[in-house]
Amino acid sequence: MSSVLSMETIKHSEEMLRTALISNHKDFIDMYQKYTPNVKRLLEEAFKANSILFKPIELQSKSDWILSHPEPKQDFYTYYTNSHRKTPVPGENIICIQIIGTLTHEIGHIFGMQHCQWLQCIVQGSNHLEESDRRPIDLCPICLRKLQCAINFDIKERFKALLRWIEEDSKSDPLVQPMLTSHKPTEAFQNWKVSAAFGGVKFNQLDSLRNGQV
Ligand SMILES: [Zn+2]
Ligand SMILES: [Zn+2]
Repeated sequence: MSSVLSMETIKHSEEMLRTALISNHKDFIDMYQKYTPNVKRLLEEAFKANSILFKPIELQSKSDWILSHPEPKQDFYTYYTNSHRKTPVPGENIICIQIIGTLTHEIGHIFGMQHCQWLQCIVQGSNHLEESDRRPIDLCPICLRKLQCAINFDIKERFKALLRWIEEDSKSDPLVQPMLTSHKPTEAFQNWKVSAAFGGVKFNQLDSLRNGQV
């Protein structure tokens, strides 16, 4: 039945953590040396066996992530040299879409939704970034209904609000504007609206919603 482990703790040696954080490559050591002493002191808390800031991982069951997804440990060097590593670039919207998609997916879990196996849907499970990028950014009708049941919104009003959000200038919205520290990424959704999930029938439906025909 349930697979209970007696609790296991993953404790890495100081040497292993140091290599994972700083790497043995000269360029990466130099890069690390450019941090201020305070930042270095903070990061080096990781090396202390009884650090008050950073704790070892505790495994409590066989379904914990590390046991059920045995993957190589990614150190800083591997991350830094990974060709798929990204840094936000002004004018490029992919990261905004990924952030909003991830939030929507995780919010689904918060309300008890499990990974969707019905239709293309933001609540589909994924094992890696490429797979999660293949998910559409919106909910399938089944998951939409689950979310609607959980928090009781008007589905039509939700689509109207999404459309308003895409189309309106955030500067004119007193509720949204103070929360934004950078440019509202609506262009990302303009592209998406035309090209992907809002294409075809759904876009026509949204157009009708906007015009009050539904
Ligand atoms: Zn998930
Ligand atoms: Zn779904």
